Amino acid sequence: MEEKSASKARKEELFSNRKHAAYRMTAEEKAESDKFAKEYTGFLNASKTEREACINAENILKENGFVPFEIGMELHAGDKVYRCNRGKAIIAAVIGTEPITAGVRICAAHIDSPRLDLKQNPLYESSELALFKTHYYGGIKKYQWGAIPLALHGVVVKADGTSVTVNIGEDESDPVFCVTDLLPHLAAEQMKRPAGSIIKGEELNILVGSMPFNDDEESEAVKLNILHILNEKYGIVEDDFLSAELEAVPAFRACDVGLDRSMIGGYGHDDRVCAYPALRAIIDCEKPSHTAVVVLADKEETGSDGNTGLCSSYLPYFIDDLAECFGAKGRHVLSASQCLSADVNAAFDPTFPDVMESKNCAYLNKGVCVTKFTGARGKSGTSDASAEFTGTVHRLLDSKNVVWQTGELGKVDAGGGGTVAAYIANLDVDTIDVGVPVLCMHAPFEIVAKLDVYMTYRAFSAFVE
Ligand code: MN
Ligand code: MN
Repeated sequence: MEEKSASKARKEELFSNRKHAAYRMTAEEKAESDKFAKEYTGFLNASKTEREACINAENILKENGFVPFEIGMELHAGDKVYRCNRGKAIIAAVIGTEPITAGVRICAAHIDSPRLDLKQNPLYESSELALFKTHYYGGIKKYQWGAIPLALHGVVVKADGTSVTVNIGEDESDPVFCVTDLLPHLAAEQMKRPAGSIIKGEELNILVGSMPFNDDEESEAVKLNILHILNEKYGIVEDDFLSAELEAVPAFRACDVGLDRSMIGGYGHDDRVCAYPALRAIIDCEKPSHTAVVVLADKEETGSDGNTGLCSSYLPYFIDDLAECFGAKGRHVLSASQCLSADVNAAFDPTFPDVMESKNCAYLNKGVCVTKFTGARGKSGTSDASAEFTGTVHRLLDSKNVVWQTGELGKVDAGGGGTVAAYIANLDVDTIDVGVPVLCMHAPFEIVAKLDVYMTYRAFSAFVE
């Protein structure tokens, strides 16, 4: 055998060497990863809105022995509880063997995704076509939402106080909906618009019908026919839209991407691709040392404000209530706690390399991404994890053979973004961002690598165990 040169040997000792996860995983781990990807894809297809993700998470928790948290309940190590927040966010906890004042381990992901919300007075008729007016939710490239099949999900609260759940466009036999776009032949002027307004906000109108109600001629008969159909199916009238939350989301299903089937494409990876691994991690943790907490939040894509977003007090209130069960103070628990802000990061795209700094960005298949700080410009808006806490996470992941990488969101001056990390860090909790690298983030069809999803689950498991 050839002798290693002194330089080569020394290089192996000193240089960072974060290779493709495939070279760093066993055959068993790869098989586990494929299995996990299938289960995640199933969850993703059934959870296209925050409400659906919340209900599905609650059902999974219940099936795995979690019970609703009650104020003042007697709790012991290994007990599993959850609290649902208005059907749009959920917190689950497994009581640890350490005293609660030793702090809890929080994984915080979000279950809302960019989409088109219906306006409160959405339905109108124009040129004998019926359409819905929308107001987009979250950061989208509006032009990506034209000419793709859309499904309609949500809830309508009727005048009598009852509510109906709407889900149209997911079943094979369902109709779908569409934001129309202009044919290229007549788009010369449209294509001169800046990309942000190729389709303008007020042009994100969803086509929902074209047939009149009856053969007696009446104005707005196509709109009438749509209301007639909705009334027959859901018992709703036009005014009920005023108190509805209806969300148009891509109608297609998540699926494998690539001839090697190494990736998953679908709507809403951001951030169900971290929410599902976090949920699985807490379900699989039997008797953790520190109490494990997973929070799946709403409203992240609009800035986390509102009583289902993490700028509100529902998480510290829950920690307060939990602490009280042990005669402790919530703030003492929080001050001793640690949090993984479980959110996606941008993966390097070889077609658009210019926005990334190659030495400090995330790559597909290099494992779960640890992001010390987010923010924009001079780290504005970041909580920036301390070297000490970053080191703690570094050691933890290495000790459990988790394949991980680090990555900033793009070049210093290219833009930026934030997560819920700062809001949890502001509660005096050591917090760092950990999540899955994504291609085409915030597009109707986002792409992740299966190995990264699995390693994210492994990272969260290591953290809450
Ligand atoms: Mn996100
Ligand atoms: Mn996002």
